[in-house]
Amino acid sequence: MNILLIEDEDSVASFISKGLAAEGHRVERASSVAQGTALALSYDFDLVLLDLVLPDGRGEQVLSRVRPEKPDVPVIVVSALGDVEDKVSLLDLGANDYLVKPFAFAELAARVRAAGRGSQASCRELHAADITLDTRTRVVTRGDIKADLPSREFALMEYLMRHAGQVMTRQQLLDAVWGIGFDTESNVVDVYVSYLRRKLDRPGMPSAIETVRGAGYRVRA
Ligand code: CA
Repeated sequence: MNILLIEDEDSVASFISKGLAAEGHRVERASSVAQGTALALSYDFDLVLLDLVLPDGRGEQVLSRVRPEKPDVPVIVVSALGDVEDKVSLLDLGANDYLVKPFAFAELAARVRAAGRGSQASCRELHAADITLDTRTRVVTRGDIKADLPSREFALMEYLMRHAGQVMTRQQLLDAVWGIGFDTESNVVDVYVSYLRRKLDRPGMPSAIETVRGAGYRVRA
């Protein structure tokens, strides 16, 4: 999943980011209300993890700005404030879950998985043309081809398949798979597309990933 982590404490942010990255998620971090709100509104994240006490305000401000525009994105509040009133007011504002600091990473990971199962964005199997991608096993099948993809290749293929039929620009793919702010001059997208083609194409087949000249890449719907 693409996860937005809004957390101002570096140590907590790095603990959460490293753990989630190890589980195969992509984590984008914001450390203030302003930055978190801007990112949450500009990009389609699958999940937001939200701290409440931030240097320029409160997590509630993020939630009340983002919720009306993104009604479906799951938000898990991760806060040291754990009174019943805090929890109730956040859940009423539209948070989906609440985790009190300090917490065991295993519990956060389980709640992230639960949020993923609940959101439409992560149904288990994706289909496009003759390609099937299993989001749990990371296996892509195409006819009798079966490829077990490493995490970055998997993330790229998953993103293209979630947008099957649409042309995705290199920039969109960089932002979604490598993270916002990645060097835009890089040819990393082309390199990874070639890795995927090597695994998923056979002579005589149309390529699993179409090149749309001057625009980007597309997986056929
Ligand atoms: Ca904080």
